[in-house]
Amino acid sequence: MTAVAEERILLVEDDARIGANLVRALEHTGYVVSWTQTGAEGVGNATTTRPDLVLLDLGLPDMDGLDVCRAISHSNPDAVIIMLTARDEELDVVVGLDAGAVDYVTKPFKLAELLARVRAQLRRIPMSGESRSEGGLIVDPGARRASLNGTTLDLRNKEFDLLARLVVDIGRVVSRETLMADVWDEHWFGSTKTLDFHIAALRRKIDVDGAPSRITTLRSVGFRFEES
Ligand code: CA
Repeated sequence: MTAVAEERILLVEDDARIGANLVRALEHTGYVVSWTQTGAEGVGNATTTRPDLVLLDLGLPDMDGLDVCRAISHSNPDAVIIMLTARDEELDVVVGLDAGAVDYVTKPFKLAELLARVRAQLRRIPMSGESRSEGGLIVDPGARRASLNGTTLDLRNKEFDLLARLVVDIGRVVSRETLMADVWDEHWFGSTKTLDFHIAALRRKIDVDGAPSRITTLRSVGFRFEES
């Protein structure tokens, strides 16, 4: 599992042992890693090194991890943020996902699991081909751009991938397993809560208040993007 050259990861983790182990494993995989042990340094580092991915411990000595998450998400909207949380921080996960993080890993975690999450998040669905147009919605995989009634949608990477994958099979159900495999990774270790979170985020951006959602949930089966 060799990483694509020059993918930059910022690790914000105050625990010296966990931090050192993670840096070693990530560098061994081929990533360029910066490590800071405080939230303030993490926020500063994110602006100077422009990481592709941020591993963010929520329990930091100087700042609330959620504030760090918000600050980095604001300064680096394209950076993928994965939170590292303790078990008693479940509520923070929900807030964190809303504050710009895309995923989380609960401590203690297995290194292999964390590396798989990192790889999954950095992987972009190789997509090309014709842009698709449906009821005012235009999805252009080549340009990685989507618009609704002429207005460009501000979609995060995984939201775009999810939307693009759903419209490939417009009018047909796409199973949860297929979405997890195509948008995230074939070997998904964690829960699929992150899928539901991204569907919800996507709905907030593409649905019209009061109208039925463009995306239908088929409980425990999958999702269908409706033809208009
Ligand atoms: Ca900590």
